Amino acid sequence: MACIFCRKGTGFKTVEHIIPESLGNVDHVLPKGVVCDACNNYFAVKVEKPLLEMPYFINLRQRNVIRSKKRRLVPDKVLFPHPKGGWVDAWIDEQGFILRSEDTEIIELLKEGKIKSMMIPTIPEVIYPNPVVSRFLAKTALEMVAYYTFGEGPYTDDFIDQNNLHPLREYARYGIGPFWPYHQRRIYTEDDCFMNTDIQPTPYEILHEFDFLMTDLEHVYSVMVIMGVEYVIRLSSPEIDSYHQWLGANEGRSPIRRGKEYMVSKDSKKDQ
Ligand SMILES: [Zn+2]
Repeated sequence: MACIFCRKGTGFKTVEHIIPESLGNVDHVLPKGVVCDACNNYFAVKVEKPLLEMPYFINLRQRNVIRSKKRRLVPDKVLFPHPKGGWVDAWIDEQGFILRSEDTEIIELLKEGKIKSMMIPTIPEVIYPNPVVSRFLAKTALEMVAYYTFGEGPYTDDFIDQNNLHPLREYARYGIGPFWPYHQRRIYTEDDCFMNTDIQPTPYEILHEFDFLMTDLEHVYSVMVIMGVEYVIRLSSPEIDSYHQWLGANEGRSPIRRGKEYMVSKDSKKDQ
């Protein structure tokens, strides 16, 4: 048994979440025996933790009520516009919001109806280029290849030894090589819903989705969308130019295949 990252590995006690559980991923999981415990731990500490602690991702998780791995809500600053109000930490859930018990003055003003509104800021996406995002995409891309090639397994040594994936593996796991460029853009909002009557009769939200793109030049790209932001990275070489060309030739559409699925507005979800 060998790990797809270090190609060695002795301990294989854990499954590997391709996208962190703290971003709501329960579906895309590699079984035990694919990523060793040392690599799993390395990514958790050196890549996923810095990613999840970026203001954009904290804010995204708070606003969308995405619980952490331990099922905890993430607090973030909200503003109570009142002379005695101000910015305080709040935990948002499906029922409303929770404040720290120390914020007695604001809690009293809310009870008395003297504060009637709350402002939740929207922090914009992480600015390109970002080395943590790039390493996260490299790790995710390699794991998605493994996931779609083998699923539950068995994983062959041929895959692990595939040379054209070696630079991406070295970059993801050890940070070796030049910065690996990626493409980032928003393709739908966090509130947009989708509809596919083959799956269910009511609209649904998409937390994340994934696909591969092969261009005319046979360049293979990993395409991942997290809460409406599309992230694209090439598998075998640190370049993104052929993706820009592909976008130009395809009127800027997303490579994510939709099939019978189509987008519906947020309001139509409420009507259901
Ligand atoms: Zn390993």
